[in-house]
Amino acid sequence: MRLFFVKDFLDLVFPRNCLLCGRSLYDHENNLCTICKGTLPVTSYHLRPVDNDLCDKVKGLSTVGMVMAYLKFTKGGNSQKLLHQLKYRNKPQLAKELGSMYGKILNENGFANYWDVIIPVPLHPLKQSRRGYNQSEQFGLGLSEALSLKLENGLQRGKFTETQTQKSRLQRMDNMDDVFEISNYNNLSGKSILLVDDVMTTGATLCACANVLLANGAKNVDLVTIAAGG
Ligand SMILES: [Zn+2]
Repeated sequence: MRLFFVKDFLDLVFPRNCLLCGRSLYDHENNLCTICKGTLPVTSYHLRPVDNDLCDKVKGLSTVGMVMAYLKFTKGGNSQKLLHQLKYRNKPQLAKELGSMYGKILNENGFANYWDVIIPVPLHPLKQSRRGYNQSEQFGLGLSEALSLKLENGLQRGKFTETQTQKSRLQRMDNMDDVFEISNYNNLSGKSILLVDDVMTTGATLCACANVLLANGAKNVDLVTIAAGG
């Protein structure tokens, strides 16, 4: 009885609302209400993972295998609203829930034992310390639970080099965006890797990461993002 009282009180002070429509959430709902969950623009990339417009996008940039995204990205649409919540509204648990929802779909479509490890695209260290978390890692953690796969932070943003220190700060930031390296502890040899990120626009970042993994012995790399398209 007392516990219920405390919970009611907390709900009153810190109301839990759907992050898309704002309606107050039932006890069994997290982040999104059931109606909004049911109307998410879920793609069917998992049905054509090696032959779709995202594969066309990365052609020539990297020799990745499958390319999939959970949601169709549309400007001003629900997927963009969700990405905004992840980036600017301190919602790591939303990224994780999206990962577990997509992981469930992948599981049901035969991807359960496909990969050895999930690796997220690392965030720029400055961005990560400002945000407090890497949304791609959180998305990966949700996938990792649903697919019973381990997640490793196997990549890191490259450190400043001698030549980079002579450039302007802006140039360096720009440069670092495309510089990725393997974290020391990681052994990728012969592994099938699921590389995850929040959104795929040009695919350049994902491909830069995939190329580092492939150059360091990964058997194959597949890409999954929360949203893509446009
Ligand atoms: Zn809602």
